[in-house]
Amino acid sequence: MIPNTDPYNRTFKNLRVSLTDVCNLNCVYCTLGNEDDIVADHRPQKNASFFLNLIVKLHQQLNLETIRLTGGEPLLYRELPQLIQGLNQQNLHQIQMTTNGYLLARQAQALKNAGLKSVNVSLDAIEEDVFFAITKRKNVNKVIAGIDAALNCGLTVKLNAVIMKGINESQILPLLDFAFSKNITIRFLEVMAMGHLYTNTETHFVAQQQILDTIATKYSFTQKDRQLSATANYWQTTCGQTFGIIANESAPFCHDCNRLRLDAKGNIYGCLSNNNPIAITPDLDDFALTQKLQTAMQQKQLFKFTGSSLSMLQIGG
Ligand code: SAM
Repeated sequence: MIPNTDPYNRTFKNLRVSLTDVCNLNCVYCTLGNEDDIVADHRPQKNASFFLNLIVKLHQQLNLETIRLTGGEPLLYRELPQLIQGLNQQNLHQIQMTTNGYLLARQAQALKNAGLKSVNVSLDAIEEDVFFAITKRKNVNKVIAGIDAALNCGLTVKLNAVIMKGINESQILPLLDFAFSKNITIRFLEVMAMGHLYTNTETHFVAQQQILDTIATKYSFTQKDRQLSATANYWQTTCGQTFGIIANESAPFCHDCNRLRLDAKGNIYGCLSNNNPIAITPDLDDFALTQKLQTAMQQKQLFKFTGSSLSMLQIGG
């Protein structure tokens, strides 16, 4: 067997790095949605050389293809441009970010200049009151300004929208129309059993088929072929616009998952379904790192995501 490959031929090629477990929004799928819980950015963060050393170490063994910076909220990470620049200098050029976009307008150009290639912006509502119900923050226009700034400076932009019953199903078509009007791809997500939703996703679960049924009230579409290791399935409308659905429950994608996660404390995880952190440090020798990566690989599920008591805020979305 090739090192760092499992019996199902899965390997780690896509590293998701949580730069901080602090967020400036308080989304109901990550937290209990209590407005008072919004955490100020005052907890100590690991510096850019900490992350750079660990990522380079992992890259030496794994020959990584993409690095996705996430959190918590990555735009709260103070040394973000320096880290992106450092990754580029190490020949890691496919640098992507997942962000809530709230602070993106004023940072987009600097991040693009540093070498960022693309951003996935989480936007679960276009209507202000629904945006507030999800994030406990006002001013969805700040996110829209962030999306515009990213597009204007030439970043590739995608949107991600978690759809929750009783909260934002009404936003499926408005979000789709918004994405189409900007000529960007949107992916809808089935809510996952994580954190406080671990034992109770049914209340809010909206299945892929329900999302498709809603879209079918306005658009005709056909499914596209799935790309290897992709999280999303995609459809194309008869007018040529594309949208996707990330359906952990209805269309699981564990069988060819190539993702590895590094959290804000320096732990790796091979799977979102697993709560057991594996601590790594830059001074690990190759043998010790290989062993840790094999442990992470064994965390992967074969069939489907089974849930986790950790929220995405902690492990990195
Ligand atoms: N703060 C950034 C953001 O909002 O994009 C990055 C981190 S956040 C944890 C990343 C994304 O994870 C969320 O926007 C949402 O799309 C997804 N997410 C978090 N918890 C989820 C859950 N329980 N089910 C489905 N998606 C979830």
